[in-house]
Amino acid sequence: MSGRFDLVGIGMTSQRTRNRLVERLREKGIRDEAVLGAIGSVPRHIFIDEALAHRAYEDTSLPIGQNQTISQPFVVALMTQTLITGPRSRVLEVGTGSGYQTAVLASFMGTGGRIDRLYTIERYAALSERARERLDAMGRYGIRYRHGDGYQGWPEEGPFDGIIVTAAPPMVPEALIDQLAPGGRLVVPVGGDSGQELKVFDRTPDGIVSETVEQVRFVPLVKGLG
Ligand code: SAH
Repeated sequence: MSGRFDLVGIGMTSQRTRNRLVERLREKGIRDEAVLGAIGSVPRHIFIDEALAHRAYEDTSLPIGQNQTISQPFVVALMTQTLITGPRSRVLEVGTGSGYQTAVLASFMGTGGRIDRLYTIERYAALSERARERLDAMGRYGIRYRHGDGYQGWPEEGPFDGIIVTAAPPMVPEALIDQLAPGGRLVVPVGGDSGQELKVFDRTPDGIVSETVEQVRFVPLVKGLG
């Protein structure tokens, strides 16, 4: 089959393969129908290189350049489900990368949605710009992008009701805890090469309460700009 026909094929079958991915995630334990709906409606193939587009709806991470990866759909769904347990008016994402997780979160914006304002930080300017182009092309406006170091959070725009970190620091960054609003929740993979745990930190009236959700593997959260 020629490359041209491959691409046409992706366009025609993507909804079907997306639905199959949604069923996969349901089997793996994702229960929030709105999260499953978001995964079913965001075209993941536009967030990766054309050469890999035929693998877009496999439940796997894939390279996106700059030595970074687009996260595995199950992990995106799990993190989203863990973050959006209710309304989270102001949400910060650290590690924009391809923009796929951003797009899934953006599905919760708009009238009656669980998110009012969405902010996303990336340390590579090129990744941030491409993510913005893709989301603009999808008609997802109103997201705030920053080329910056997510270790610092986004103090000018905080505090946040939800913070999601899509790269792993060795220890949870203090600035991100500080930028949690009352009732706010931080979802972050913590650890190094030998293993990472997806953790949740909630700012409760009794202080910060944390729990571990799952064993995961992310690229490292790196200090400074790329
Ligand atoms: N959510 C993204 C995940 C990309 S991988 C996606 O699904 O495509 C993690 C991203 O975090 C990479 O793009 C990496 O450059 C970025 N990153 C790593 N350290 C960072 C930091 N300190 N501040 C902001 N972004 C960071």
